Amino acid sequence: MLSLIEGYRRFRETAYREHRALYEALVARGQSPRAMVIGCSDSRVDPAILFGTEPGEIFVVRNVANLVPPFAQSGNYHGTSAALEFAVRSLEVEHVIVLGHARCGGIAALLNNFAGLGSDFIRPWMQIAAPAREKAVDQSRKAGADAQRCCEHEAIKVSLGNLQSFPWIAERVRAGKLQLHGWYFDLETGELLQLRDEHFQPV
Ligand SMILES: [Zn+2]
Repeated sequence: MLSLIEGYRRFRETAYREHRALYEALVARGQSPRAMVIGCSDSRVDPAILFGTEPGEIFVVRNVANLVPPFAQSGNYHGTSAALEFAVRSLEVEHVIVLGHARCGGIAALLNNFAGLGSDFIRPWMQIAAPAREKAVDQSRKAGADAQRCCEHEAIKVSLGNLQSFPWIAERVRAGKLQLHGWYFDLETGELLQLRDEHFQPV
């Protein structure tokens, strides 16, 4: 824990001091990020570090395997959907980026049937990506594709599809006010890929 406090002190002395005017402006007029990032909770894929953003630049929600659930108004707790609603309806972001990554533990758990994992919450949560698992298993059987990577890619596509199930997202996309993106960070090579025409390609 000590290293976190030390890190904070360094931040206070350097970055906070350097960005003092920016923080004051963000306090005075509030935040107005233009993009929302839905990333994985994985400690290796921090969007702010990856994209070198300044405070106030991106609105981020992180969860297990960067998944977007389908639109559902049941009485349960919808953390990711609540963040989406705030970013899209209140902050009016112009871009929503689903940011997947290589070596995702959540995706690996889904592929390995949650072996050795507690599954109070992870198993039902990961069911969002069940169609991605099916495709990945199929692709690896038929074409020898890397099931993990394939599932990581397909899960981003599932989340992009689910984004469209939110009526106020679909409406803004149709009106040209909002763009949805699928990105993938390859931890192993440091490469960032972008979904274009159903394929992930280097940016
Ligand atoms: Zn992950």
